Amino acid sequence: MGESGEEPRLVDAVWPAIVNEEKFQAVQRLMADKGQTHGSGASSIQHVYSLSRLVHCKRCGGKMDGESATGRLGSKYFCYRCGECLMRVAAHEVEDAIMDRLQLLAEDPELLDRLTAETNRKLQLDRPRMEREIAGLEKDLKEVKAMADILLDELISMDQQAGRSLVKNKLNDLGQQQMDLDHGLEEVQQELDRLDRETVDSELVQAALGQVKELFGALKP
Ligand SMILES: [Zn+2]
Repeated sequence: MGESGEEPRLVDAVWPAIVNEEKFQAVQRLMADKGQTHGSGASSIQHVYSLSRLVHCKRCGGKMDGESATGRLGSKYFCYRCGECLMRVAAHEVEDAIMDRLQLLAEDPELLDRLTAETNRKLQLDRPRMEREIAGLEKDLKEVKAMADILLDELISMDQQAGRSLVKNKLNDLGQQQMDLDHGLEEVQQELDRLDRETVDSELVQAALGQVKELFGALKP
């Protein structure tokens, strides 16, 4: 991070939390918060700390929580406080930094492309495991079918009734195994199909950023 040459400050502390999976949770949180603000409280102005636990402390990396504090002149202000070293940052400073960064991102096609690629890379992390699983299941299935073929040949050439029922039992077992394997294969294949559909494009990422920004704006007191 900090590649743009601007002063690192809070943005650097805040940004990693926003680009990873937690971005989604942030949106969820923003949506949940939106409905319950300015409630019954007769007390003074409320602040929605939408970034609680998402912001990391610049000094020690600890997670920060929102809280209100009293300033030198006795006025109340809102801030995020590190759970580890107790450092405080003004809430508006953090939130404005996020807004600015979102604005920048949404307007920069190169950044959007990178974010899109990274999102897709994360989505695809499970693919190799699934593909190995499919290959393994297909191999087992092939073996079961080959074994069934051999047993069928045996069955045809057999005269003894006793031997025949034994082979028939084995064939039944193989039939069951084959059904289980088919079922397993179908499940992994569906998982893989879902992964294919989950691929995002830069327009989607831009829309998601816009949504976060919009919600954020709506929360400002
Ligand atoms: Zn700290």
